Amino acid sequence: MDARQVAFRAQYQAKIPTIYNGWAHGAWIFGFGIAYAALSLHMAAGVTFPLWLASFIAALVVSNLGEWWIHKHALHRRIEALRALWRRHTVEHHSYFTEARMTVDSHREYRIIFFPPFAIVIFALIHVLFGAIWSLPFGHGAMWAWMAGGMTHYLCYEVLHTCAHLPEYRLLKYLPFVNTMRRNHWVHHHQALMSDYNMNLTLPFADWLLGTSDLDRGLWGTLFNGYRMDRLKPEVAARVGSAPFPPGNT
Ligand SMILES: [Zn+2]
Ligand SMILES: [Zn+2]
Repeated sequence: MDARQVAFRAQYQAKIPTIYNGWAHGAWIFGFGIAYAALSLHMAAGVTFPLWLASFIAALVVSNLGEWWIHKHALHRRIEALRALWRRHTVEHHSYFTEARMTVDSHREYRIIFFPPFAIVIFALIHVLFGAIWSLPFGHGAMWAWMAGGMTHYLCYEVLHTCAHLPEYRLLKYLPFVNTMRRNHWVHHHQALMSDYNMNLTLPFADWLLGTSDLDRGLWGTLFNGYRMDRLKPEVAARVGSAPFPPGNT
């Protein structure tokens, strides 16, 4: 880490309220999210399986595209009305974690990884709205299947993004999707690449579709790439330079 990153991390940690507990923050997110998804699945029980599956997958795909769009166009671009989002992400999250240091030392630092506690309520309401629109042609039961899919995508985001910022436990390297996103997100956190590549935080479907993946691979290879660094696009490899992956904890 350079002196600037060391100083920023120390300043940020000093500002975390003493009452903050990362485990409690996570328990709120996953408690609320799992209850919401379980209730939605229960309410969707009367829907035929093909419609249930189509609704669930449609919600996953739309959420993945939405995640890409918000990350690229609101979190990495300063829009005055959404300035707080840009500041929290580009200024704080990307100063705290760079290609030199991607990891946390304690649960208190989950504060800069998880979305704030109120965000899940907003996502829950957004998926009620999208589900209601989806129900217009497909019926009331399909709305609940959509809501379950949308919340599942958000919870997967929190799991995979958090795993991308955990220390180099050996197991993480071998878990499918987790290993892909740890390497993928490290490239995104490279200071020279963060505005242009790997805008997905859950799985890089939209990045593959819209040409912002750092990899020169098909969809299957992109999703299951793991830690491989030998398939970078040439322009990405040039910008990554000699930065080592995994970066270590220095
Ligand atoms: Zn991150
Ligand atoms: Zn970012």
